[in-house]
Amino acid sequence: MICWGELNSCAIFIDQVTSDRCDCLRDKCIRDYAPEKRIMVRRYHLNHVIDHAHGQLETQLMELDSILSIRTIPHDIQYDAQNKQAMDRMAQRLIELGFDVELVDVGAKEEGTPAHYMIFADYFSTPAKNVMLIYGHIDVLPVPESDPWLYPPFSLTQKNEKLYGRGLTNSKGPLMCWIQAIDAWMTQTNDLPVNIKFIIDGNSNVSLQLLRDVFEQRKQFFQPVDLLVSTTNLWIAENVPMLTTCHSGYVKFELEVQSEPPPKEAKDKCPPPQCECGLQRDPMSDLCLLLNTLTDTKQGILVKGLHRHLLPVTQQDWDIFCQVELGIQEYKRRTGATTLPHEQSHPEFLKHRWCMPSLTLHSVKCPPKVSTQSFRIPKQVSALFSVKLVPNQSYRYVKFAVKDHLDQHYKRLKCKNPTYLRVLDQLAPSKQPRNATFNVAAIRAYKSTYNVTAAIPDTVNVCMPIINELRRNCMKHTQVVGLPFCSMHMLPHQANESCTIEEYQRNIELFATYLYEIAHVPAECKCTDIPDFCYTKGKATETDFIRTLEPRDNNTHVLYEIGEMEIDRTANVDSVLPNVKQILLGKDNSAQSLV
Ligand SMILES: [Zn+2]
Ligand SMILES: [Zn+2]
Repeated sequence: MICWGELNSCAIFIDQVTSDRCDCLRDKCIRDYAPEKRIMVRRYHLNHVIDHAHGQLETQLMELDSILSIRTIPHDIQYDAQNKQAMDRMAQRLIELGFDVELVDVGAKEEGTPAHYMIFADYFSTPAKNVMLIYGHIDVLPVPESDPWLYPPFSLTQKNEKLYGRGLTNSKGPLMCWIQAIDAWMTQTNDLPVNIKFIIDGNSNVSLQLLRDVFEQRKQFFQPVDLLVSTTNLWIAENVPMLTTCHSGYVKFELEVQSEPPPKEAKDKCPPPQCECGLQRDPMSDLCLLLNTLTDTKQGILVKGLHRHLLPVTQQDWDIFCQVELGIQEYKRRTGATTLPHEQSHPEFLKHRWCMPSLTLHSVKCPPKVSTQSFRIPKQVSALFSVKLVPNQSYRYVKFAVKDHLDQHYKRLKCKNPTYLRVLDQLAPSKQPRNATFNVAAIRAYKSTYNVTAAIPDTVNVCMPIINELRRNCMKHTQVVGLPFCSMHMLPHQANESCTIEEYQRNIELFATYLYEIAHVPAECKCTDIPDFCYTKGKATETDFIRTLEPRDNNTHVLYEIGEMEIDRTANVDSVLPNVKQILLGKDNSAQSLV
């Protein structure tokens, strides 16, 4: 096909196999269409999808069983083969559904270290749809002999309309629900209503530093993501799922104390090692004194001004705290704690757990040369601690406050040893308004599936390190939503992890519905962030928006196009028309009329 382009000046021969539009015709973009015109999925599609999904129960449970039966226990080289097998199976399933899949071993490549696989999967339908990234992991906790499991944990047991199995609710079960919801859409519409990406993690408890490089190398994978979704266990009451929309940030500090160099005149008579103690304050004592000034059991964080910029807990949040049915006793039992701060009042306890910043000491390090049996004094010690940030704390201010606090106490405690405070890592907290588009979509999905109203808190934060790592790589305006899975009774990570068959099916329906609701949020053009994103070719053929919806309207300057087959005929037509010379010289009457 020859393109005559704008003002009849292009005349490029286009190979229709590789592209069906010439570059010169790029005069239309998603943002040129009214929002309602960008939506391509209809209600009856969803009805067919749900009907189909409900009809597949037996196959769905068989598939679930096959993935629960694989012992995907990380950190243990004897399960390497099983971990690989599970990942291969997930990858294969996604490929069958039309995804482009990359299976990566992101583990440290040392002898004897267990492998760590991760799947990056991508289904790109058309740029006119939203892009959603689903995170899930398939590793599970090992099952100790002492765990009172009623049924074999590493297979799916059906008993009295209930399902049991390790990983059923976190997060093999949710992942299978997504895959089965996607399967239903694929079967019914031959396409997906949303562009979907998966990151499936084979080991969710790994050093994030390791993952950072892996994510860095896949910048394009994250770039177009509009929505990042994970599943949570936050059905806070029988009829109340709580969406998570706020994510805490952090600043990670390292405090290092080195021993004071001896004064010059004392250098010659430097005391022998065995009588070093007591002469001057050693670095470790200084470090402990300084760390002690940071927190205390009664008041929590002692750093002045750290609570500045905190969003106040709203009435909406208090209402949510009062609805939470998980009691403090239950929480103690789960975590093994005997006393908890603020346990006198349940809402107060939840406020401190969910809405307030906190300071945590992680480790104290000496150089490895210093053996613990020796009486030698370490010359250099350091400690790691971090501050959890909640909206709208600024990490710049927190860094200042912590440094200022340590400075003052350094003077007050008459420390002499040179001390350094370093910031190792930082991330700002993120918060979305209650009525952000994908939150509203989730509310609608829960309403139509369960007939419940999902709670959206204003200041409740969840701290999920992996989600933080993922959102660091996405766009600034990427929304992050945590969808509560199943019910409040599912006992994730515990013995007899379970849900009912009906709950499992409902979740497939929920996810299928959520995809439909997301498809009803008009996609935005991303061409400013990703050049020419609107012209990326996707897998959609019949419903591809850019190519089928009035691809060239009346305002374009395109005059006409000629198919390859027509070229000969047009050559003849050409000879009838006057040539340029005739027109200019005006020797032909018909030519003059053209001028
Ligand atoms: Zn052209
Ligand atoms: Zn665009």
